[in-house]
Amino acid sequence: MYPDEWKESPYSIDFDEYSRKGYKGIVFDIDNTLVPHGKPASDDAKELISRLKQIGYGICIVSNNEKERVESFCRELGCEGVWKAHKPDTKGYFKACSAMKLSPASVLCIGDQLITDIHGGNRSGMHTILVNPITRAEEIQVIVKRKLEAPFIFIYRIMMKLKGKSFPSRRLPAGKAVVTDNMGNPLRKNRI
Ligand SMILES: [Mg+2]
Repeated sequence: MYPDEWKESPYSIDFDEYSRKGYKGIVFDIDNTLVPHGKPASDDAKELISRLKQIGYGICIVSNNEKERVESFCRELGCEGVWKAHKPDTKGYFKACSAMKLSPASVLCIGDQLITDIHGGNRSGMHTILVNPITRAEEIQVIVKRKLEAPFIFIYRIMMKLKGKSFPSRRLPAGKAVVTDNMGNPLRKNRI
């Protein structure tokens, strides 16, 4: 259930370092990991993915979101994608590995949710990196999973402290959760 590492954001990770360590591929979650929930690929995301490809990484998106969402996002980034992956099911992760022609042990799995992204990456044998969600606006099922993951995050934080390891000072952005549809549009009566 716990990630191998916990970082602030995919945009602050030293990917050259992981390349030197022998990692050859990266599986990314989309929503609230690379961009806010439901939003199209940002310039930052495009720049990051093209830099990673230059380093030599294979890149694959693995998302629980719908085909249209994942396909258009991947088209913008120019990478492979697996939609409706039912994470933490391992099938989508293994599909990503065969698309990149890599073994799970040489792949980094990066996502903002413990129960889906990280748990699935761990079960698939990848090196997992938890990142903080970009916004508090997301679908109701994600908001529920945030509540469920909270005690695990609390325990993980204590474990990291005891081991003297570093981790971000906070987990969620400030403000209240906002319920959206799968494209990130707020629903009515959206405050919970
Ligand atoms: Mg996510």
